[in-house]
Amino acid sequence: MLTKTKIYLSPPHIGGSEQKFVNDAFETNWIAPLGSNIDGFEKDLQHYLGSNSQVAVLSSGTAAIHLALLLLNVTKGDEVLCQSFTFSASANPIIYQGATPVFIDSESDTWNMSPELLEIAILDRIKKYKKPKAIIAVHLYGMPYKVTEINAIAKKYDIPVVEDSAEALGSTYFNTACGMLSDIGILSFNGNKIITTSGGGALVTDNLDIKNRAIFLSTQAKDNAAHYEHSSIGFNYRMSNVLAGIGRGQMEVLDSRVVARRNNYNFYKANLSDFNSISLLEEPNGFFSNRWLTCIKTSSFEMREQIRLNLLEENIESRPLWKPMHMQPVFKNCLYFTDGTSEELFEKGLSLPSGSNLSQLDLDRIISVILKTPNL
Ligand SMILES: *Cc1c(COP(=O)(O)O)cnc(C)c1O
Repeated sequence: MLTKTKIYLSPPHIGGSEQKFVNDAFETNWIAPLGSNIDGFEKDLQHYLGSNSQVAVLSSGTAAIHLALLLLNVTKGDEVLCQSFTFSASANPIIYQGATPVFIDSESDTWNMSPELLEIAILDRIKKYKKPKAIIAVHLYGMPYKVTEINAIAKKYDIPVVEDSAEALGSTYFNTACGMLSDIGILSFNGNKIITTSGGGALVTDNLDIKNRAIFLSTQAKDNAAHYEHSSIGFNYRMSNVLAGIGRGQMEVLDSRVVARRNNYNFYKANLSDFNSISLLEEPNGFFSNRWLTCIKTSSFEMREQIRLNLLEENIESRPLWKPMHMQPVFKNCLYFTDGTSEELFEKGLSLPSGSNLSQLDLDRIISVILKTPNL
C-alpha cells in the first residue's frame, strides 16, 4: 500500500546558519556549557525581547520554571497557583520544590488563567491556609493571557508571577514581548516549539541580579574560590554551547516562523469559519499571538474524534488540547478552582498541524480531510 508522507503537528524547522554556529563551537573546542554561542544567543534573545531584558539560557524550559520558583523562595509547605489548562511541565517544578500546586481554570477569551477564579482562589487560600507563594500563568498555544488583570491581582495581594512563555516566543501584549510581562518569564526551545535548539530553555527577567543568580544556580552554585566551594545547592541546568549555536541560527529566522504560523492560522480560519460547529480563538485587541499551534473547538467530543481519526488515517498528526492538570491522575489530590472551561476545551478541542514548514499542498491535504467531516 502506498503510504502518504506524514504531516507532523509541529516539527523542527532549521533555517540555514545553525550548522555554521555549531561548527564554530567545534572549531574553538567550546563543547561545554559555556562559550561564545551562549553569549551570542543570550544577546540575540535580549535584543529580540527588548532593551531591558536579561536572559539566561538553560537546558530546558522546565529547568527555567524550577529555577524561577527557587529564586522566588518557593519551598516545602508553600502553595503555588498554577493555570490548570497547560502542559505538565508548568506544574511539575512546584512538586520538585516540595510545594503544592493549586490549579486555576481558564477563561474563554484567551483560554488562559481566569482572573476571577485566581482572585477567588487567593482569598480562599489566605482564609483557610496562607497566602500562596507564586502564580504560574501560561500563554498557551502562543496566545497571551490577560496580563493586565492577572498582574493587578498579583500586585493587590503582593504575589509574584512566573510567566510560562514556553509556547509564546514571538507573541506580544500591547507591543511588549511575552516573557517580559511579569516578575520572571521562561522560554522553551524544545523540538516542537516555534524555534528550537533540539532541547533548551531560558529564564527571562529585567533584573541583572536575578539573571546572574540563575546562571550561578544552573552551573552547580560554585562560590568564588580557587577550589570548588559551595554555600548553596546547585543544579546542572545551563545550556550547552553547541546547542546555543543552533539557537543563534534559529533567531535569524524567528520572525519568518511567526509569519508562517500565523499564515497557517489564517488559512484554517478562512476555510473553516463558515461552519457553526467549529470555532477558532480570536486575538483580543492588543493581543498578538505567534499562533504556535492552530487549535479548533468543535461542537462535540464525537466530532473532534472523527476529525482526529480521519486525519490519522491520512497520516496527518493532530492532538486533543491539553488535558487540564486538575484532571491528571498525578495531581488528583490537589485543590482546584474551576468552572468547566478547560474541561470543555479538552473534550472538544483539537490542535491542527501547525509547523512553519507546512507547504500549501500540505495545508490543502489537511483541510480537504477536515471538510469531509459529516454534519460540519
Ligand atoms: C514545552 C513547555 C514547557 C517545558 O519546556 P521544555 O523546554 O520542554 O522543558 C513548559 N510549559 C509549557 C506550556 C510548554 O509547552
